Amino acid sequence: MAIIGHQKQWQFLRKSAELNRFNHAYLFWGQSHLGKRVIAKEFVRLLNCQEDPRHFSNSSSGQTNFTKSSGGCQKCWSCQAFQREIHPDLIFIKSEGKEIKISQIRHLQYFLSFRPHSSLFKAVVLEEAERMNSEAQSCLLKTLEEPSKNSLLFLLTEHPRMLLPTILSRVQTIKFFPVPKSEIKDYLKTHKISSSNIELISSLSFGRPGLALEFSKNPEKLEKAYKTIKEIAEMSQLELADRFQYVKTLASQEHDPKEILESWLRYFRDILRIKIGLPPELEISSSFGYNPSIPQIKQIINSIEKINFLISSTNVNLKLALEQIMLKI
Ligand SMILES: [Zn+2]
Repeated sequence: MAIIGHQKQWQFLRKSAELNRFNHAYLFWGQSHLGKRVIAKEFVRLLNCQEDPRHFSNSSSGQTNFTKSSGGCQKCWSCQAFQREIHPDLIFIKSEGKEIKISQIRHLQYFLSFRPHSSLFKAVVLEEAERMNSEAQSCLLKTLEEPSKNSLLFLLTEHPRMLLPTILSRVQTIKFFPVPKSEIKDYLKTHKISSSNIELISSLSFGRPGLALEFSKNPEKLEKAYKTIKEIAEMSQLELADRFQYVKTLASQEHDPKEILESWLRYFRDILRIKIGLPPELEISSSFGYNPSIPQIKQIINSIEKINFLISSTNVNLKLALEQIMLKI
């Protein structure tokens, strides 16, 4: 899997591996779909490559080069097994329902209690780590307090403040940011995608390579993302009663609320760009003449971010929450 963007973070990890000064527990902090999971996997692959376990000769040239920005030789059994996620020394842990439970952390500890099966390091990637309930977090502390030298642990999260301070103090935090549109475009150009779609995909993915890849493989998802943005853009033209009707319909359908809120965020951030004199990422953002004040737009963005956070952590009433946003438009 190619690493798209994030060269600073990746070269930092490579260098730490080269110097044998890497950590055993990392917190990868950043929005979803940025590529945190890909980088964790590539780092594990790099450290375990059988061809040359210290396969670090390709130092950064500062250029985007998809071969160089992957971990390991990519050819040996180990590299391929990690890539296909069938390596016995790597597991991924995700929430079951809304939470990551203590039983899952105990499973992690059991997994790490054995020596690696066929590599130098065993690794666990904990996705959406903020979903660990408090019991699970306390249980994980034990692992962080006494890490085994053959283990690697990656906590991936958008919301580190939902983790215990004692967890945060025991991991090395690496922050990830949206990737420049030009880098996503360059990557898409290496695939068979029409130039108009490259433009649309790179705009609608808003700096998130993972989303760009999903859009490129799934035209329906791309269309849906565009439709959500178009609908929220049209909301500014409607009466409050119609906006409430719209959110009622949205809340009753089987949409992923996070996806809707993230699309809204992208749209309103784009409106903010226009307001401060920057060109919009999306053509549609300027097509309805929507002209809120800067404080108003910041308020809308804040409330969407707040609701997005609450949705991850509580059983918030979606319809009421979306109505709050509609009141502010
Ligand atoms: Zn290899």
